[in-house]
Amino acid sequence: MRPSFHPRLINDPFDDPGLFIPFQFQHRAVIFDLGDITCLAAKDILKISHVFVSHTHMDHFIGFDRLLRLSLGREKNLWLYGPPGFLKNVEGKLAGYTWNLADKYNYPLSLQISEVHPRYTRCRQYRCRDRFQPLRDPVELPFAGILYEEPAFRVSAVILDHKIPCLGFSIRERFHVNIITDGLKALGLTPGSWLTEFKQALYSQADPASKFEVKFDRQKPAKHFTVGALADKIARITPGQKISYITDVVYSAVNSEKIVEVARGSDHLFIEAAFLDQDLELANRKHHLTARQAGHLAGTAQVKQMTVFHFSPRYTGMEEQLLEEARAAYERSFGQTAEGFDFGIRNGECGVK
Ligand SMILES: [Zn+2]
Ligand SMILES: [Zn+2]
Repeated sequence: MRPSFHPRLINDPFDDPGLFIPFQFQHRAVIFDLGDITCLAAKDILKISHVFVSHTHMDHFIGFDRLLRLSLGREKNLWLYGPPGFLKNVEGKLAGYTWNLADKYNYPLSLQISEVHPRYTRCRQYRCRDRFQPLRDPVELPFAGILYEEPAFRVSAVILDHKIPCLGFSIRERFHVNIITDGLKALGLTPGSWLTEFKQALYSQADPASKFEVKFDRQKPAKHFTVGALADKIARITPGQKISYITDVVYSAVNSEKIVEVARGSDHLFIEAAFLDQDLELANRKHHLTARQAGHLAGTAQVKQMTVFHFSPRYTGMEEQLLEEARAAYERSFGQTAEGFDFGIRNGECGVK
């Protein structure tokens, strides 16, 4: 199966956190946390539609300025979600600049900001053309775990304890649509942007009898099907992909329960492993997880693949040790080997320091 989400950490595990998740065949992405994003190419940053910020410690939110800088003057809506106090944090960032020319931009940028409370979210809009002065009071909407939803996927959040509220996230595809290449060939079809529309029709549970037009990019006549007939020939439905992201949490019974709940059965869990177990006391004092605790949580949640990150700089050169500790704890808790373990190192882009 070709996954729909292609998550990758924006930095190496000793640098600022952030998980960039571009969508297959779409000019679109979401991001969990906004640490330093200078390693992300501008074209990738511009794909971001939704931003989910765990908490506003500087290493998780300093990337806001670059995102805003690149988005200015564009016809773009950006949705940002964060913990209690997030509206004030964003307002503070916006207040740091002078916006007397902002209403001259041709294309209006709009920021939809939501802060997450245990039972509701407070939402407010800030538009470039209003010089980012909000025109209306915040609106409160009920919150019961699902932060954002559209037909193809949903993003859930839990409020965790980092001695301040800190959000953990998961993104889950509703189901996965596998395209059968032989089916395409048999109907004389070639892949194209129509496939995204076709998948959207399936996610939206379109009536199988409704018409669907396959348009081609070049001068080839369109072909007509019903959604149901086309699905029978070219689509195979399998369970949707799930990616979870947990960082900056103290190890406690309450946190553990919530983390296991939100991450359960994930195809891929990204979880902080800031300290080694030998420095457990330090980890507790700094309200972070050890690699062993991270591995135990991942094993208990029965995730398939795990990436550990947000290492303390004291372990420079000891990445393998952190990974090994997490791996052993995972296997002890789950009783089996994971499909993959790593610490998010990528070659290329900014590379590894
Ligand atoms: Zn942090
Ligand atoms: Zn923190």
